[in-house]
Amino acid sequence: MLTVDDDPAVSRAVARDLRRRYGQDYQIVRASSGTEALDALREIKLRGGRVAVLLADYRMPQMNGIEFLEQGMDLFPHARRALLTAYADTDAAIQAINLVDVDHYLLKPWDPPEEKLYPVVDELLAAWRSAGEREVEDVKVVGHRWSAPSYKIRDFLARNLVPYRWFGADEPEGRRLLEAAGVGPESIPLVVTADGQPLAAPTAAEVAAAVGLSTAPVRDFYDLIIVGGGPAGLGAAVYGASEGLHTVLVERRAIGGQAGQSSRIENYLGFPDGVSGAQLTERARRQAGKFDAEVLTTRDVVGLSVRGGARVVRFGDGTELSAHAVIIATGVSYRPLVAPGVTELTGRGVYYGSAATEAMACAGTDVFIVGGANSAGQAALFFCRYARSVTLVVRGDSLERSMSYYLIQQIASVDNIQVRTGTEVIEAHGDEHLEAVSLCDSKRTALATLPAEHMFVFIGAEPHTEWLDSVVARDPRGFVYTGPDLLSGGQRPAGWDRDRDPYYLESSVPGVFAAGDVRANSVKRVASAVGEGAMAVTLIHRYLEAQ
Ligand SMILES: Cc1cc2nc3c(=O)[nH]c(=O)nc-3n(C[C@H](O)[C@H](O)[C@H](O)COP(=O)(O)OP(=O)(O)OC[C@H]3O[C@@H](n4cnc5c(N)ncnc54)[C@H](O)[C@@H]3O)c2cc1C
Repeated sequence: MLTVDDDPAVSRAVARDLRRRYGQDYQIVRASSGTEALDALREIKLRGGRVAVLLADYRMPQMNGIEFLEQGMDLFPHARRALLTAYADTDAAIQAINLVDVDHYLLKPWDPPEEKLYPVVDELLAAWRSAGEREVEDVKVVGHRWSAPSYKIRDFLARNLVPYRWFGADEPEGRRLLEAAGVGPESIPLVVTADGQPLAAPTAAEVAAAVGLSTAPVRDFYDLIIVGGGPAGLGAAVYGASEGLHTVLVERRAIGGQAGQSSRIENYLGFPDGVSGAQLTERARRQAGKFDAEVLTTRDVVGLSVRGGARVVRFGDGTELSAHAVIIATGVSYRPLVAPGVTELTGRGVYYGSAATEAMACAGTDVFIVGGANSAGQAALFFCRYARSVTLVVRGDSLERSMSYYLIQQIASVDNIQVRTGTEVIEAHGDEHLEAVSLCDSKRTALATLPAEHMFVFIGAEPHTEWLDSVVARDPRGFVYTGPDLLSGGQRPAGWDRDRDPYYLESSVPGVFAAGDVRANSVKRVASAVGEGAMAVTLIHRYLEAQ
């Protein structure tokens, strides 16, 4: 643990209090300026040490606490961070929460430490241990740069916030690992877990289980099952579990949903400087965990049924799980881009959504982004920082109808982003990986074939709710009808067996609710998804009370 304060008396006092409680297990390093603290961190890094907690005073000459934490994060991104402030600096401390993702701020003085200091540090240590830096060194992935299965595993680990080290199968260390695991290059990707267990060409579920992500429920019966781990599902998990419901969230891929892919969410309340989707997801996951919500990953829900008072979800492997109530929070996902070459090159230069794992590989290359909504705009602004050129391919004849004004303004101010409206992709070319794309205009007249190494597709988000067929009423595109939308001409939906109207977020099946993007006529935003998740829980309490 490192603590930095320019006031020698305060610095001594913090170190003394930390030593008293944590001295047995942790080394406490004390510094009297940001520069000195950074030197200490560099030395720890070189010695191969790890840092659990950074505790910095806000008001320091030359380099203030926020500036220090920002640079400290570059060296030890997993160290948990806290800022020491005087009462007058509370505003600055709150800002720091957004700027450098500070976990806590502590008001001086912190006496008695048992009440004001140790609970905070205990929480920081618990968070550090669970998301630990240890794993950075340990989980290894060996694969090929342009292999779709290798990309899938990397993307899966990254989106589930599991740190890993990547080795090309043709690099010396990659070859050594393959040899040690006794497999050849045909078995890639190879995943080697923290405890040295090799998994050749594993499924996402096998990787999840091996790296410690939960995949199996602890109970047979829950108060609440949430299907989908995007903002709506995570919001529901936090509110459900914190209000005493036995809650399990089931996610098919990686928690965070669409928002987890966002490079910077700028319009979510409370984050004036924006927040990355990964950061928001990590915070939400910790918050849900704090209240004991169970989170299962790699579990695909493929069916829903009603058995008396129980609502039963069926998983892809045929097993089932029951609860008093269910929230469907499965959001939307992108429609496939139908053009020759696209399917063959998916994962090898063509990606759906924003593949942050590819950012470095885009350095100096030509990138195409397909789509005209905010998600595409954000991706253009993200990848232009790495790529030589970014071309935004938009089918509509302007961006104004589909993208927020602030994004259009930002895009216009960036030199290496070109916007091509009234344009579509008609073919993707390449053997081993994407090499070029062909474009046409709205009359399908060929325009050009241009070099491209990466293409990110953001078109036609659809709900994919076929698994609710003949159980839950949906609109023609598959979005789930809820509440007032179910009452046609004042009539309740077919099969409705209660002497009340469906609650606002309740589907055509009593006790089954929908929240977020999957809901018909919902606002497709992070804030509304989180809000609906929370609201659904309140309505579930009402539903349970009347049972
Ligand atoms: C790149 C990008 C940037 C964006 N930026 C912004 C922004 O800046 N501001 C803003 O307000 N909004 C933004 N949005 C929109 C916002 O992210 C969505 O409105 C929000 O994520 C919707 O949340 P949700 O929980 O309803 O659904 P989703 O985020 O779509 O999450 C649904 C989850 O359910 C899982 N799932 C689906 N089916 C199943 C199943 N059968 N079984 C188990 N799990 C399942 C999915 O894997 C997914 O994780 C952005 C979207 C994208 C793609």
